Amino acid sequence: MAGVEPAAYNVIHSDKLQNKEKLVAKITGIRCIRTRVNGTWVIVKVLTDQPGLYGIGSASDHYLAGTVIAAIEQSIAPRLIGRDASRIEDIWQSTFTSTYWRNGSILNTALAAIDVALWDIKGKEAGLPIYQLLGGPCRAAVPCYAHAGGEDVVALEDDVRRYIEEGYSVIRCQMGQYGGGGFLDGKQAGAPRNAWPHPNAFDDEAYLENIPAMFAHLRDKLGFGVKLTHDVHEHLHPHNAVTLAKLLEPYRLFFLEDALPPEQIAYFRLMRQQCTTPQAMGELFINPHEWLPLITERLIDFIRCRVSKVGGISQAHKIAHLAEWYGVQTAWQEGGDNDPVNQAAAMHLDLTNWNFGIQEENHFAPEELDVFPGHPVLEGGFLYPNDQPGLGLDIDEEKAARLLDPDRATRPLYMAEDRRADGGMVRP
Ligand code: MG
Repeated sequence: MAGVEPAAYNVIHSDKLQNKEKLVAKITGIRCIRTRVNGTWVIVKVLTDQPGLYGIGSASDHYLAGTVIAAIEQSIAPRLIGRDASRIEDIWQSTFTSTYWRNGSILNTALAAIDVALWDIKGKEAGLPIYQLLGGPCRAAVPCYAHAGGEDVVALEDDVRRYIEEGYSVIRCQMGQYGGGGFLDGKQAGAPRNAWPHPNAFDDEAYLENIPAMFAHLRDKLGFGVKLTHDVHEHLHPHNAVTLAKLLEPYRLFFLEDALPPEQIAYFRLMRQQCTTPQAMGELFINPHEWLPLITERLIDFIRCRVSKVGGISQAHKIAHLAEWYGVQTAWQEGGDNDPVNQAAAMHLDLTNWNFGIQEENHFAPEELDVFPGHPVLEGGFLYPNDQPGLGLDIDEEKAARLLDPDRATRPLYMAEDRRADGGMVRP
């Protein structure tokens, strides 16, 4: 079964379709395939009783990969065996409430993987790419934004210029790592004499000083033709996030990303009253109550959920449609952790949602892309789809196994800890 290509499936079944013979694919199994060197990519394969017909979806979680696998294989898969694979919405709704407590990141991720795999199956059954099933493309390709960074403004400017030359029209600008520009040196003023050892300390005032200066430099050297963004990664106290948005107004950002942590989204109201800097938010969102007020009160400009953290294509498509009515654009989160299957899911939505704004780029190594034949192609700042049925990409399980280092996959990963001078945690 695993060796049959999606195209071959359509050849096998074209006779049945022409004879109007009804295809009812039943789910026969759900498997998780762990890959990437450190094992953080989890690709789910939903198998059916139709020869050669299966779908894939992303259940990747950088920090809790094993937990998501256990949720799928031990709890969710057993109750889906024998179900009609065509009932995507019904399976979504019944899985959503199957554990009673819902809107958690683990359940959402499992749900998303199965949802995307079922869309992949539906596309293969119809002989159409998913973007065709969702309404057809309303753009030729998907513009992406690049991640530029540098330890100082000159290095950053060089990196931005490199991306402009590559063809990117929107570029995220960071001073080194997240929070960069806000870190004080080792033994800085403000630390107590019994300070806990940590390499550097994040300071709101330093950030408020350095980030506007960074954009002043970039606008001075590059002008306003290139569109620039910045990711605060929630490091600031909420009132200082409002101040930063005001200070950045003269530099006309494409958007300011994650200025606030999900716990402080009410501050977006203050930000809106204070300045016109466009706001992008949502990569940590897992619950409709997080995105609903921001969209319906028009408090943000770009909704940035990760497709696999909100429940897959079905849920993200609804979010996109909701946002359309309120003038909010999509900018689904991708970046470093995501896998090519989640990227493809986002790309199908990007192609078909009219209120698409921009797509975050990924950083895949050639040997990683090699595991996913048919993957979207990133070229000159655009992501290009193919016209294959379903998601348009597959997983080569032998290559996936070769890519994985089983020893590294056993080591737990944690989000970086940034702290203030007194040792207090900064929300990442
Ligand atoms: Mg971000």
